[in-house]
Amino acid sequence: MQVKCSLCEKIEDIEDHSLIAKRLRNRRIYMYLCTTCYERIEHNTNKRLATGKFRLYRENKKVDQFL
Ligand SMILES: [Zn+2]
Repeated sequence: MQVKCSLCEKIEDIEDHSLIAKRLRNRRIYMYLCTTCYERIEHNTNKRLATGKFRLYRENKKVDQFL
């Protein structure tokens, strides 16, 4: 089946029997992301997570200093 990426509107061909195709047909997911967008989002999420961890680490260090 053909699906349109919700972000860049690129049309991609996916396997009719793939899990993502089934989910889209059952409307369990409403948006499809092409590989490029998916990887970009995943990269951004990981970057945000890394930043969050870094901040958390620094906050912990600060608390340690006061103890
Ligand atoms: Zn895309």
